[in-house]
Amino acid sequence: MKSLYGKFAVITISIMVLSSIVAFLLSNVYYQQHLKPLNDQKNTRIAESIAAFVQDNPSIDLEDYLSHTAETGYQLYLMDATGHEQSFGAPFRDLSLSDSAKKHVLDGHIYHGIRHFPTDTFVTGFFANELRNSIGVPLTYNNTDYALFIRPDIALLFNEMHYLFAWLLVLSIVLSIVFVLIGTNYLIKPIATLTKATHSLANGQFHLDLPTARKDELGQLAKSFVHMAKKLQQLDDTRKEFISNISHDIQSPLSNMKGYTGLLEKEQLNEEEKNQYISIINGEINRLSTLTKQLLLLASLDRNEDLLQKQPVNISTQVKELIRNAQWSTQDKGISLSYSLPDLTINGDPSLLNTVWDNLLTNAIKYNRPNGSIDISLKRAGSKAIMTFSDTGIGMQKSELDRIFERFYRIDTARTRSIDGTGLGLSIVADIVDLHGGQVNVVSIPGEGTAFRVELPIA
Ligand code: ADP
Repeated sequence: MKSLYGKFAVITISIMVLSSIVAFLLSNVYYQQHLKPLNDQKNTRIAESIAAFVQDNPSIDLEDYLSHTAETGYQLYLMDATGHEQSFGAPFRDLSLSDSAKKHVLDGHIYHGIRHFPTDTFVTGFFANELRNSIGVPLTYNNTDYALFIRPDIALLFNEMHYLFAWLLVLSIVLSIVFVLIGTNYLIKPIATLTKATHSLANGQFHLDLPTARKDELGQLAKSFVHMAKKLQQLDDTRKEFISNISHDIQSPLSNMKGYTGLLEKEQLNEEEKNQYISIINGEINRLSTLTKQLLLLASLDRNEDLLQKQPVNISTQVKELIRNAQWSTQDKGISLSYSLPDLTINGDPSLLNTVWDNLLTNAIKYNRPNGSIDISLKRAGSKAIMTFSDTGIGMQKSELDRIFERFYRIDTARTRSIDGTGLGLSIVADIVDLHGGQVNVVSIPGEGTAFRVELPIA
């Protein structure tokens, strides 16, 4: 049985069969221990009252009386010492009874056949239509000693009831099996739907129609499934967008380079024009080189945080070094740079942290205005180091702030279009800070400036 449906149905039906068998065995013990002696007692009383009535009323016709009694639901068997036997009511199926038992009753004793009927016949012994399964009492009628054996006529008493019970039993078994099959289907169907959904997901089909309204575990599973599908779709979209961005960002410098090398080859150019074209080509080569470096870094950051090589890093020294290297470009733009960088050592990856400061400083310069200023400050707040890069640059709209950490996202304005960039810098910053267990926040006012605040745990 391979399917869950089959297993569930077979297990449930087996449980039903097993519990019926156990119930039958238990009821049998109850019958043997409790009902059988009670039944014996009750029938003994009835037999004795019949015998007493006959003895007290010698004038009645014994055969008539016994025939009438039999009609009220009994099987009677009368015998005397000469071996003369007579049955009243439905005949016993089996008349075998030991001579000693018969003699025992003729001698004036009571025969308790019901109580002593063999125990191995289970509860069905109750229905055994045998002389052995009766009560025998002595009876004296017109000075003759008789032995009267009596047992309830089960067939007569149960005739209608036992059909009813039999139907009840058969119906309940059939209905239970049908309901088990339907119920199992109700339980198992969502699993089959979920299995189908996994196939749809595998084929890139992310819109799933699943039974999320169910309140049980399967409903929760379906909800998680839909959630997972949404996430997978987002990932898929990001992946597609990423590939198209990369392709575009590689293709455009390549076609620029192709165009300018073509010009250099064909045209009669003066020295100044040649130098200008070569410088453009160099710029494109640098852009491609930056892009590939950033992509490689992002790919390694994506792998996991095991790649972090943490050690004590003096981050103020790192930033001071970068400020020194950036001096020519700040001077070029007339940007004044101030800083407050007290020595502070944190535990982190020196090369990755350097990339964070480098990207933030480069942006503060790139997106600044001529003769603007930059202020960098570092302070300790409890167990955290807080580095802030504030600039008096072009600033950003509030609506843009959520997106600037996305890969390849660049704010597209007349002012930013002329500024070189890949749109990867801030996503790298966010990834590295996240790997270090810190966070980056940004506040910005369009036309006035921007401040990036990086919080990193010191230990
Ligand atoms: P890019 O390579 O374009 O600089 P980033 O990921 O570093 O990519 O930055 C994403 C975008 O965020 C930039 O294109 C720019 O529009 C905006 N941005 C980043 N830093 C600043 C800043 N200091 N001032 C104003 N805008 C900024």
